[in-house]
Amino acid sequence: MSELKTWVEIPKNSDFTIYNLPFGVFKNKRLSPRIGIAIGDKIVDLSVLDQEGFFSDLFLPEGIFLQDSLNELIALGKNQTRKIRERVQDLLLTDNEKLRDHSIRGKVMVNRKEAEMLLPVKIGDYTDFYSSMEHATNVGKMFRDPENALLPNWKHLPVGYHGRASSIIPSGVNIHRPKGQFKDPDMESPSFGPSRRMDFELELAFITGKPTKLGDSVSTAEAEDYIFGFVLFNDWSARDIQAWEYVPLGPFLGKNFASSISPWVVTLEALDYFRVEGPKQDPEVLPYLQCEGAHSFDINLEAYIQPEGAKQASRVCRSNFKYMYWNIAQQLAHHTVNGCNINVGDMMASGTISGPTEDSFGSMLELSWKGSKPVKLETGEERKFIEDGDTVIMKGYAEKDGVRVGFGEVRSKLLPAK
Ligand code: MN
Repeated sequence: MSELKTWVEIPKNSDFTIYNLPFGVFKNKRLSPRIGIAIGDKIVDLSVLDQEGFFSDLFLPEGIFLQDSLNELIALGKNQTRKIRERVQDLLLTDNEKLRDHSIRGKVMVNRKEAEMLLPVKIGDYTDFYSSMEHATNVGKMFRDPENALLPNWKHLPVGYHGRASSIIPSGVNIHRPKGQFKDPDMESPSFGPSRRMDFELELAFITGKPTKLGDSVSTAEAEDYIFGFVLFNDWSARDIQAWEYVPLGPFLGKNFASSISPWVVTLEALDYFRVEGPKQDPEVLPYLQCEGAHSFDINLEAYIQPEGAKQASRVCRSNFKYMYWNIAQQLAHHTVNGCNINVGDMMASGTISGPTEDSFGSMLELSWKGSKPVKLETGEERKFIEDGDTVIMKGYAEKDGVRVGFGEVRSKLLPAK
């Protein structure tokens, strides 16, 4: 990749470099909701650039950036969104004086600290996959049979379930401990109350940018045309509620009370430089799931816990998106192979991303091995699951040859049950 230099000051280790330029929706005390691109500690207000004619040759619909979601912008198609992102990149280059020396510059560049980030898309439907072999194996070992941890279908199709879009919330929104029904193996009859095993799931989610018609399917070769970008995804889970309710139809109230996402959508184009092949699939998958080329990405993922009052967050997990057994092209091809249609702004999460080592497990369930091995925090405290007042923070970034593209973070505090 050729080196790019920008006139914007980029703090060291910033996720929002000139190579990234993710899209998000923000507002602040003065500004109504609008679409911006993050760079360093700033947000480029695309609506101001548009009003000043910086996109006039792209013939964009009027007010396309003065929206409270990215849906209409994404629906213009990748050809247009790519041109918008490339135009912004060009305007931010050191040698380009057009915006650098323009009197409007101060109005275009908004302080990220003063902005409130909103949910980036209106999410129509949300699907959660289960695509990390290490995660599925760990869960299988704990709850079923250590000898046959993976169920017979697992290596033949990307297992998933339909989740709930209404409770997907942006970073910074805190949640209450959910209440529900549970029956532990040692209990004679079920009980009702606040969950006693609150957990996070470290995931990435992709957002679809192009609709399909009912009855149509998307091949693995076409799949990436339908994917706009990614966000970090914390799939909050109540393990005790989940364990009691999930047979035979899968997760329900143990999952649908909240999922937290990072607000900046990192485009597939920005991640292109970090492509890698996924794990070799054995046995060979059916023809509709086979794919050419590298469809995975080398993205470092981390989860942190910050107890109430603690000065510092403790990292409890380091994982990587590249561990995923099933890639995004296979997930989308499988999702639509039966003719299930998708819409712009659908969200499809990866499933918990665990790696091969004990410190790379993407949930407390695995890190504490079902509560049998407490995890030490830097404060000296221990955790088996998430406690009231804990803030869970997830971070993700790709880095290669000095080029960094990151997601920022998703954070949310667990408040006591209502
Ligand atoms: Mn999940």
